[in-house]
Amino acid sequence: MASSEELHKRRTAAVARGVGSVIASYVDHAGGGTLTDVDGREWIDFASGIAVTSVGNAAPRVVEAVQRQAERFTHTCFMVAPYESYIAVCETLNTLTPGDNEKRSALFNSGAEAVENAIKIARHATGRPAIITFDHAYHGRTNLTMALTAKNMPYKHRFGPFAGEIYRVPVSYPFRDGGLAGGQAAAHAVDLIEKQVGADNVAAIIIEPIQGEGGFIVPADGFLPTLVTWTRATGATFIADEIQTGFCRTGTWFASQHEGLVPDLITTAKGIAGGLPLAAVTGRADLMDAVHTGGLGGTYGGNPIACAAALATIQTMHELDLCAAARWIEATVLRRLHDLAVRHPEIGDVRGRGAMLAIEIVAPGTLTPDPATTAAVSAACHRAGLLTLTCGTYGNVLRFLPPLVIDESTLHRGLDILEAAITGR
Ligand SMILES: *Cc1c(COP(=O)(O)O)cnc(C)c1O
Repeated sequence: MASSEELHKRRTAAVARGVGSVIASYVDHAGGGTLTDVDGREWIDFASGIAVTSVGNAAPRVVEAVQRQAERFTHTCFMVAPYESYIAVCETLNTLTPGDNEKRSALFNSGAEAVENAIKIARHATGRPAIITFDHAYHGRTNLTMALTAKNMPYKHRFGPFAGEIYRVPVSYPFRDGGLAGGQAAAHAVDLIEKQVGADNVAAIIIEPIQGEGGFIVPADGFLPTLVTWTRATGATFIADEIQTGFCRTGTWFASQHEGLVPDLITTAKGIAGGLPLAAVTGRADLMDAVHTGGLGGTYGGNPIACAAALATIQTMHELDLCAAARWIEATVLRRLHDLAVRHPEIGDVRGRGAMLAIEIVAPGTLTPDPATTAAVSAACHRAGLLTLTCGTYGNVLRFLPPLVIDESTLHRGLDILEAAITGR
């Protein structure tokens, strides 16, 4: 078998430079909490392929469902010759997402595609053009979703011009806004929307209930409910982008549930199908069904293998109670991170929910971001065999996204490596 070094040479000659990788080791196989590279080295997985493999990389039910479906048929295109598993995924999403109102779903391939379609639906149903997005938002890499995304490097740099009628307002960021109350932060955002865009022009507010790539930012209590109330009063649509936060990741099926929110539309992907590409828009039947037949779709959307994987993934989440597992991870990891923060003043903030946790690294006693230290800690983790990711507008957030099936000893081994990386730098 080729070594990582050999594969890296081939990759450099064959793969476009614009596609980066966090590590230069190449994967041979992976389970629920560890990856093994082609050189036989084991990595503890605190990334889950960016919050995707919550049930593990080779969950038995998912493997079996994929194999069985591949033998029956790989593709017919739901828009040409439909099949049951697509319907079953939509039924499951309609009951699993917050709210007992009547809902419909449509399936796509990637998170960005789901976001694009949620915007299409909101604009079509309301007859309005404007979309409100937030500082630190991340919604994808397609043209419309780049426009929604806040951060220039690496996502947007020299890729414009971007889609129009997108307006950005401040979000609640307790570590950086002086602990402004959620309601006040929302009132400020609403004031800007009303003065600069006009309530009657707004088709939708789109927001991640906990911002992901932007820095695992948990808004202050009351921020999201105040925005929802405003959309209800003005006829705008509230879209919760739960692509990263969904499917037990934050300790509930969806992060919107922490404050009892019922979004009008909800976008999902990542954790939905155990690593197979699948995404969805789920929401109010009147909005979803406003679009004419043929207005939504795509060749691969709701591919039968991905749908089989999603049903097996969701069943696994129920059987293993992975929402409870995420809450256990939260308790275990937060205890150790808070402990670490007491001894290391460069850890300015410890935050997150469930198995979506992070530390923000700053110059001690200030809010000044320290991306160099963040990168150094991450590199030290990688050298010691822990796969960690960074994020944040300022590149100074270390985030932890273990698979929800990780066992206790692997989790602690990973935290030991992190601790040594911070302590021994
Ligand atoms: C990852 C992500 C997306 C984009 O999903 P892709 O599948 O990469 O297109 C959109 N929104 C959020 C919140 C995400 O975390």
